[in-house]
Amino acid sequence: MRKYEIVVLGAGGVGKSALTVRFIKGEIPEHYNPTIEELYQQEIEVGGERISLDILDTAGAEQFTMLNEVYIRSGHGFLLVFSLTDEASFCNLDHIRQQIFRIKGDKSDIPIMIVGTKQDLYSERQVTRQTIQEYSARWGFGLYETSAKKNWHVQDVFEELTRDMRKRYPAP
Ligand code: GDP
Ligand code: MG
Repeated sequence: MRKYEIVVLGAGGVGKSALTVRFIKGEIPEHYNPTIEELYQQEIEVGGERISLDILDTAGAEQFTMLNEVYIRSGHGFLLVFSLTDEASFCNLDHIRQQIFRIKGDKSDIPIMIVGTKQDLYSERQVTRQTIQEYSARWGFGLYETSAKKNWHVQDVFEELTRDMRKRYPAP
């Protein structure tokens, strides 16, 4: 079975763990520990093939750590996660993008998805669809608005990223 590594990156509190745990367990955890970094394994079927995913839910460190550098080096696909209710968390993504490009070197075809979270919090929204679209189009990244709470588009995010990884890293 093919196996890929996904790294989930983004500012603290944006909902990286909620998104990841919703995908893995079908529910969101009641208690959060923001400093915990967790590695999950999950199988997914994409294009008629079963694929094994290692998903690293990183701790929400605001600054870039050496550890992140190690993860990015070995990662095949990346989720750049921000909260639709927090403009600063969106601005933070470009710093992460720069680090990925620097570490991976090859800039054109790294499987990266931009993930906006907390879509259910309509009245608190701070980042427009257009702003996100312009950004993802500029870099050729996929894009989803999600809610881990309501389970909106959570599965889609992981399926699309897996499709991109299959294309980028075909079977040997
Ligand atoms: P992380 O630090 O990026 O891993 O963020 P967490 O997953 O720990 O989530 C931070 C907070 O945001 C928690 O209180 C979650 O309950 C809340 N949260 C996460 N996702 C959603 C969502 O889709 N909708 C709402 N309303 N709250 C969310
Ligand atoms: Mg977390």
